[in-house]
Amino acid sequence: MSWVELRVAESKARDANRPIVRIDPDVMERHGIMVGDVVEIMGRRRTAAKVWNGLPEDRGKGIIRMNSILRKNADVSLNETVRIRKVEPRPAQSVKLAPVSMTIAVDSNFLQYIKQRLRDYVLVEGDILQIYVLSQPLTFQVVQARPANAVLLVTDDTQIQLYEKPVSGVKIPPVTWEDIGDLEEAKQKIRELVELPLRHPELFKHLGIEPPKGILLFGPPGTGKTLLAKAVANEANAYFIAINGPEIMSKYYGESEAKLREIFDEAKKNAPAIIFIDEIDAIAPKREEVTGEVEKRVVAQLLTLMDGLQERGQIVVIGATNRPDAVDPALRRPGRFDREIWINPPDFKGRLEILQIHTRNMPLSPDVDLRKLAEMTHGYTGADIAALAKEAAMRALRRAIQSGVVDLNQPTIPAESLERIKVTMQDFTEAMRE
Ligand code: ADP
Repeated sequence: MSWVELRVAESKARDANRPIVRIDPDVMERHGIMVGDVVEIMGRRRTAAKVWNGLPEDRGKGIIRMNSILRKNADVSLNETVRIRKVEPRPAQSVKLAPVSMTIAVDSNFLQYIKQRLRDYVLVEGDILQIYVLSQPLTFQVVQARPANAVLLVTDDTQIQLYEKPVSGVKIPPVTWEDIGDLEEAKQKIRELVELPLRHPELFKHLGIEPPKGILLFGPPGTGKTLLAKAVANEANAYFIAINGPEIMSKYYGESEAKLREIFDEAKKNAPAIIFIDEIDAIAPKREEVTGEVEKRVVAQLLTLMDGLQERGQIVVIGATNRPDAVDPALRRPGRFDREIWINPPDFKGRLEILQIHTRNMPLSPDVDLRKLAEMTHGYTGADIAALAKEAAMRALRRAIQSGVVDLNQPTIPAESLERIKVTMQDFTEAMRE
């Protein structure tokens, strides 16, 4: 089979931790790619993944859905292209893995567990793998794999070696698009307004359009505004500085303007950069609401700094607030925060997506009905759902400790014990009553 060119799209939330790709079904049929096949993926780097069934909605779009780890392994961003072709993976003789950011304790149980997990992957030397132990992601790099230069499959006969000390120089994206449920429109918009100009300033120059300097995110607390800002910074490879309105006004009392200047300087030095100002209404309340001189001066300073941004699109200020009408109108004039994105609390479908995200690393018992939970959580924000999922998992853990499944006196918890912990529907319903 020859190479096929495809455009990279994000994976669905449920696939965010699966080392698999989903390809336009038309392309699969045309090139005889079947579910379960392995494809070599060529971006700026070479990697590989298993193919799962393509999504009907992707038919004819010429896309390949890859999660953030696979995108990192292929060294590509969303909307860039990769070339793929079917390969026959070879059995691995030996694979050496090192943890990416932390030191781990390796015993034979753990090694066995990891080896078991590796059956789900195909790998190429240098790849990053995320393996979940309970709901904890452990990130490894394949530091060496034999035979060399091949796409490999771990078998019973593969020798696995696990290093305890981390490798350096690998950074795992902190927030990616797959971590954000719902908010399809907001994601699309922020990508267009922020990511595109940060990545391709020449495009905007060529077309003679001015990318925005500032964007306002409007929405209730806990609905994903910070997540969006972090994800866009991360996916655009931009430097990210977060500040908080009330903190600036109180902690740095008397030095608020200097602090703002410092932040803009830091952004300029590290451009492309995103400055995220949470609760911006505290810094820049409507002037008629302003009593103090300090607030007036801080607003004026922020406006001066934004007006002074030369390289348009290379520094973007994202402000967030849940009180759109409380923001100084001067801030919303052209050339300042002249674009806005509204973030609404999630509806049923949104809550289901967010539940899927926050339970995707959890060992769920078969009785857990996420659709039912999505119905029961009417009125919950994303943050409420995240807290609910965490509390449910804590309940499962407490039960495991109380019943002796997990013995905390042991230095490490054997893999078989971990496998026996399950989060049940009752854990969720009880957590809801809290
Ligand atoms: P905001 O900035 O709107 O107050 P955050 O983005 O800080 O809210 O969200 C807080 C936490 O709630 C996040 O870290 C995440 O765990 C969860 N959360 C909120 N919205 C979403 C969402 N749309 N999808 C997934 N998780 C979410």
